[in-house]
Amino acid sequence: MHFKFKKMFRNRTNGELSLKNLNEEVTLAGWVQKTRDKGFMIWVDLRDRYGITQLIFDADRTDKSVIEQAKTLGREFVIQVKGKVIEREAKNPNLPTGEIEILVKELKILNKAQLPPFTIEDETDGGDELRMKYRYLDIRRAPVRNNLIFRSKVTMAVRKYLTEQGFVDVETPYLIKSTPEGARDFVVPSRMNQGQFYALPQSPQTFKQLLMVGGMDKYFQIVKCFRDEDLRADRQPEFTQIDCEMAFVEQEDILDVFEGLIRHLLKEINGVEVQKFPRITYDYAMRTYGNDKPDIRFEMKFGELNDLVKDKGFQVFDQELVVGIAVLGCSEYSRKEIDALIDFVKKPQIGSSGLVWVKYQADGVLKSSVDKFYSEEDLKTWAERMEAKPGDLMLIMAGETDKTRSQLSTLRMHMAEKLGLRKRNEFAPLWVLDFPLLEWDPDTKRFHAMHHPFTSPKPEDLGLLKDQPAKVRANAYDMVLNGNEIGGGSIRIHDKETQKSMFKLLGFTDEQAQEQFGFLMDAFQFGAPPHGGLAFGLDRLVAILGGQETIRDFIAFPKNNAGRDVMIDAPATIDEAQLQELCLKLDLKK
Ligand code: ASP
Repeated sequence: MHFKFKKMFRNRTNGELSLKNLNEEVTLAGWVQKTRDKGFMIWVDLRDRYGITQLIFDADRTDKSVIEQAKTLGREFVIQVKGKVIEREAKNPNLPTGEIEILVKELKILNKAQLPPFTIEDETDGGDELRMKYRYLDIRRAPVRNNLIFRSKVTMAVRKYLTEQGFVDVETPYLIKSTPEGARDFVVPSRMNQGQFYALPQSPQTFKQLLMVGGMDKYFQIVKCFRDEDLRADRQPEFTQIDCEMAFVEQEDILDVFEGLIRHLLKEINGVEVQKFPRITYDYAMRTYGNDKPDIRFEMKFGELNDLVKDKGFQVFDQELVVGIAVLGCSEYSRKEIDALIDFVKKPQIGSSGLVWVKYQADGVLKSSVDKFYSEEDLKTWAERMEAKPGDLMLIMAGETDKTRSQLSTLRMHMAEKLGLRKRNEFAPLWVLDFPLLEWDPDTKRFHAMHHPFTSPKPEDLGLLKDQPAKVRANAYDMVLNGNEIGGGSIRIHDKETQKSMFKLLGFTDEQAQEQFGFLMDAFQFGAPPHGGLAFGLDRLVAILGGQETIRDFIAFPKNNAGRDVMIDAPATIDEAQLQELCLKLDLKK
């Protein structure tokens, strides 16, 4: 990268000089990555955001005082040098600047540095926690730096695309009132309204709907959201959404615009052209892949076998669901390999009671772990269901429907990972449509909104609301990419009466609904247009486009798995005076 403007501090970066610049006098600045002192000659690798340039201090050609100074340089010292671009004797083909070096004439130490706690190179000896504690040093490393630059490139492309489509970037407040979206709120005590609290938004959901009532029509925002959830691996309590809403639209309009956005990103960022995204229903996804965010870069579709296997004396297969997958080319798996798979599904996190296997040998012969109960003819019908071919290994599970689907889905992903089918540079986006409106929560014995309470039921399912609420489908959709939900949204309710009955269905009294969401329902009475939208999880989207799945690597200052920022040491206690001012009394004994 070249500077487009005159700079006095440095006129070149450490990533740009080559033989083309031979004999130029340059001024560079940066950090000392490494020094090699051969007595009469000292080499220094000078690093900045743009790359690394080798400096040479040569006793024959550099002033003695400068050499003396160079001898004091340590790792991560910040320096400025003036010198001449010369050809290197030992060239380094792995470095863009590897053919030249700078014969230093002047050296200025701008700042000394303590020895860093880990090596600041592409490969580092620093563990996760240490790197997080000194994240600013970690950011000096090319892989982390490049991820942040990559993220910036993605957000710019998003802004450009949406702006060109007529979307307006509107900021919504961070100090708000709770919106129930399934997670706990982070709350902020108000000093001026003692005993009262703001909540940090789990998403700008109600505000973006109000913007539609306000006539804004097409809104987007790249926005921080906050959810106080029990932390699962690779979840952040604060994360970023690309939040969007449109008025006067049907579901189809939304699918069209945002499929366009992701197609644009895949092309701009990854150079990948994707045609129309496949669409499947939630129901189909659950039956075929056992989850609602299937990775469709590979097959291994579920085959349900109940009608083929029941009442043959093998009681395991008389359960609610018997379902299997065909794993490509694994019919030669040894007893040991299969045992390892059985151990895998029996792990407490998965909780299956075991696996039945069928080998469809390359010679067409079928062998199974249940040969006692089923003939080869039987096994052949199973193979058809699972679309197994000679050479494949069929893995079958049985049990309660939801559990078994989820267990087999985990096994499917495990096998795909093992077989290298989850390729980082292959992208298979799709839409999952027609989510159920409600979800039964056995703990609270109540229905919850599967997406959120503002989602509208499908008009054709309204008749079911009273007697079979679990069967009602919503105008809700998710975008899925490579086995990850990257975005989701819905067409919203936009009239007070429907919104009121929805709250009722979810167990709110009229008073509770009015108190929490009166502002929204009131707004609906002042001419709310039909509207809908969605939000993408930016952190995950960026990670996937970057060919990785760990979102932390794409966040400048992430929190650890316990929700802590180990660099600034937050959360932390506050002092007594602050507590008093906020009218907060702590009783930690409880
Ligand atoms: N607010 C929703 C969410 O955070 C997205 C939407 O419905 O637009 O998941």
